Amino acid sequence: MLFDQIIGQEKTLNIIRSALGKGRVPTAYLFTGPAGCGRMPAALALAAAMNCESEQGPCGACQSCRLHETFAHPDLHIIRPLPGKRWIVIEQIREQVLEKAYLMPMRGRVSIFILDDAHTMYPNAANAFLKTLEEPPETSRFVLIAPGRDSVLPTISSRCQELSFRPLGRKEMITLLGRHGVGRDRAHLLASMSRGSMERALEYHRGEIPEKLAEEFEPLSKLTDADWGTLFGLSQRWGKSRQEAMQVLEFMAQWFRDMLILAEGGGEEWVIHSSQLPVLRGEAARLGGYSLSMVLETIEDTREDLERNANVQLSLDNMLIRIRRQGLLKENRA
Ligand SMILES: [Zn+2]
Repeated sequence: MLFDQIIGQEKTLNIIRSALGKGRVPTAYLFTGPAGCGRMPAALALAAAMNCESEQGPCGACQSCRLHETFAHPDLHIIRPLPGKRWIVIEQIREQVLEKAYLMPMRGRVSIFILDDAHTMYPNAANAFLKTLEEPPETSRFVLIAPGRDSVLPTISSRCQELSFRPLGRKEMITLLGRHGVGRDRAHLLASMSRGSMERALEYHRGEIPEKLAEEFEPLSKLTDADWGTLFGLSQRWGKSRQEAMQVLEFMAQWFRDMLILAEGGGEEWVIHSSQLPVLRGEAARLGGYSLSMVLETIEDTREDLERNANVQLSLDNMLIRIRRQGLLKENRA
């Protein structure tokens, strides 16, 4: 990974380049920002740069850089929750960090430890890691990747230099998605759906989420006056897993947001699901801004409930009942 392959983070990358140029890379960086905005590519570029065989790395061509490219460099260590697990556990910190950080690098000048999703370190793992940061080995550097400074222990963040990565803009995402072979129209939709995160956009792309969600356009457009059987049927279909429910909620939020924009006289260029403009316009006029903002609030409440581990099915049931009532509000007030 080279620095110039990373899009939209020039300011942050310049700080890293400058530290590299002066030979003053801090013992530990904390890269913060939303998932998929370039934190990991930047950490990998930094790692490659530190062990590159040319003057101003990463060159991408020397043997060290090529080993980095294939994650085969013996001094590059990436620590993240094991597949299917939520936490980085103390055994991982012991085996992958503590046992290696105090040894001489195997091939390069420094050993680099990238803690991906550092906020998932289990408390005892974080405390074990903290000891390394308190007495850092000369030849080791650490990059912690986390959503925000507050998501890791203050004792850890205070020993790291924080660099924040901003969410990507729509244009930047469309460019990046193009590089992944995504066509322009689809890239537009994915960029709008994924709120500045390439990781999310690619996940949606691979999972064919736009196609799956397109099947929901029709039920969504009839939601506010659906009968009970239809509502609970939807709730069952959407509530198969927490993850699927969250995707539907995100999609619903976009759907009603689109309507709210139209109801409030916003331009079509702000609408995400522009292929559905006639339906959106009709519903926006029928429901009106007041009901729509209440519906959006309900969706947001439900999203929070699910994040707090509330029962998926019950939360969706409640939400759909509330939305149905909110759809009736306008008629009642009229
Ligand atoms: Zn190189």
